[in-house]
Amino acid sequence: LVSRKKKPEDTIVNVKGEKIGDGNPHFIMGPCAVESYEQVKQVAEVIAKKGLTLIRGGAFKPRTSPYDFQGLGLEGLKILRKAADEHQLAVVSEILNPNDIEMALDYVDVIQIGARNMQNFDLLKAAGSVNKPVLLKRGLAATIEEFMYAAEYILAQGNSQVILCERGIRTYERATRNTLDISAVPILKKETHLPVVVDVTHSTGRKDLLLPAAKAAMAIGADAVMAEVHPDPAVALSDSAQQMNIPEFHEFMDALLNKEKKK
Ligand code: PEP
Ligand code: MN
Repeated sequence: LVSRKKKPEDTIVNVKGEKIGDGNPHFIMGPCAVESYEQVKQVAEVIAKKGLTLIRGGAFKPRTSPYDFQGLGLEGLKILRKAADEHQLAVVSEILNPNDIEMALDYVDVIQIGARNMQNFDLLKAAGSVNKPVLLKRGLAATIEEFMYAAEYILAQGNSQVILCERGIRTYERATRNTLDISAVPILKKETHLPVVVDVTHSTGRKDLLLPAAKAAMAIGADAVMAEVHPDPAVALSDSAQQMNIPEFHEFMDALLNKEKKK
């Protein structure tokens, strides 16, 4: 079902009017985790001011250590929804538990399935059974083929509104947090009809590489770029080192949008 051989035309995932896969660049920006209304409100404001329509933020956080901040849960989804509604933004947020999918429908516009859950088959089936776009992230050590099969689980349940996200894979290289597999983008575009987004934050894990990685993603054919923004990254409860602050977000967006205009 994901194969382009079966469906030659591009799938366009319409998220409240933002048509991901339509050939224009799209941006999914926002904090790593929802920490407070005040925090999300500040980010939502600047995202809207830049003319963007999507906000991301984790309410359920899949942390490597059980002792790290696990997210605000339902309260986090409520905060995200309120801040997003105040600026007509659409919400992208990760759901960890298949039993939470139904509940999440009231708060999110895109269900994110994280890298650590790419092969959580019950979660894939649950997300495939609802009428809501799904952003599926590539597993930490998943091949492109395994990634496509994971997406197939969602489509097999009847939900074809799937966005694939390359977020870096684990290799021996330690200079970056993960290794951004940039060639996965044209391969996925060729093999599937689904839109592809590149997460430059979790792939590189380095602020100095966000802009070049985003430029590379757009140049190689990605439909969207995801990156993390926090009003005060120094006090962030997760991914403190690689989230952009607000001036950095403006610089990042200006560099990418001006480049588009010049074309
Ligand atoms: C995230 O996007 O919030 C996240 C946890 O990313 P990943 O699943 O790619 O590690
Ligand atoms: Mn993060």
